Amino acid sequence: MFADVKLMERFGAGQYGGSYVSESLVSVLAEVDAAFRDARRDPAFLDALTVLMRDFAGRRTPLRLAERLSSQLGRKLYLKREDLLHGGAHKTNSTLGQLLLAKRMGKTRIIAETGAGQHGVATAMTGAALGLPVEVYMGAIDMERQQQNVKRMELFGAIVHPVRAGGATLKDAINEAMRDWITNVGSTYHCFGTAAGPYPYPSMIKYFQSVIGLEAREQIQEQAHQLPAAAYACVGGGSNAMGLFAGFEALSEVALYGAEPAGLADGSLRHAATLTLGTTGVFHGMRSLFLQNEEGQIAGTHSVAAGLDYPGVGPELVALQEAGRARFVAISDEEALDAFETLSRLEGIIPAFESSHALALAMKTAADFPEGSSLLVCLSGRGDKDLDEYWKIKGSAS
Ligand SMILES: *Cc1c(COP(=O)(O)O)cnc(C)c1O
Repeated sequence: MFADVKLMERFGAGQYGGSYVSESLVSVLAEVDAAFRDARRDPAFLDALTVLMRDFAGRRTPLRLAERLSSQLGRKLYLKREDLLHGGAHKTNSTLGQLLLAKRMGKTRIIAETGAGQHGVATAMTGAALGLPVEVYMGAIDMERQQQNVKRMELFGAIVHPVRAGGATLKDAINEAMRDWITNVGSTYHCFGTAAGPYPYPSMIKYFQSVIGLEAREQIQEQAHQLPAAAYACVGGGSNAMGLFAGFEALSEVALYGAEPAGLADGSLRHAATLTLGTTGVFHGMRSLFLQNEEGQIAGTHSVAAGLDYPGVGPELVALQEAGRARFVAISDEEALDAFETLSRLEGIIPAFESSHALALAMKTAADFPEGSSLLVCLSGRGDKDLDEYWKIKGSAS
């Protein structure tokens, strides 16, 4: 079910990744590392996870040929339907893996940080299913903006802690969650939202998400009788991208593409395009690229797709970019909204604003590949959550 992901401490020529944490976290990270190495070799753990993925989350998710859009593009566009996963997005793959691991480690309390609330909801939902109490740190401003997700987390029995420090958004919530973990290492597991953070999280989360790429590779070979010419994913921190890429990275004939949010349609690339615009730094326990000012202060980000609003990016994606193995392109809000409408009208599927970035990039680059070739897009989540925002934007534009 999962790819044979190598646990990497550092990526690229050794400069990305690592583990930049206070001394009190060193031993608990080593404990997570040892538990994960052990668990992925234990058939009982893998069986339990496979059953949860199937009966709780609904795996395997379908691969759908988008027929009408394909005939417009002259290329066969396949959608990996993570939007049909329980919870409405790929995040459930990672929270199931991590919380089952936490349980195996004997941890009795789960903490997480969340920006727009999607990772908080996935963690709270999984905590309810596995009987683990969850506490979520969330910026007070984000809580105000995302009341529905706060209500969801509370319904699942989670405690949501408002964070008022700094800008009261995701990067401040990350700091608070790290502080909590330092104080409660014995009892607590920190559930990360993306393929980022200190070792072993980037590789471990890639492993749990690699189910996307492995299934998609099998399915596209069954359906199209060929490998895709290119595979596309949107990039927040990089978990759905690394999960998809895990199925194809060893196959050099498959081009790998990541779509980052450019934010504004004026092409000024000011917003959350970390791989395009970021500079090297250390935050959230890792060395990677970040959007930051000259003093190294992490910037607040903004995209129409709240789930892409992470100020950094997973270290392995940076290495893939530097090696020329994957290409990253900034997609504007306008391009993403256009893809959102196109898929809704032509295919009867409302994609998440995040996933709409990947779709927009596939539509934009389709002509680079020979007619009749197959393109694979990871539809990371469903767009019902984005409807109010969509109609607000439409309303103000008319
Ligand atoms: C959270 C989220 C993302 C971004 O997260 P990654 O870790 O980069 O995958 C993308 N799509 C959806 C639907 C999300 O909820």
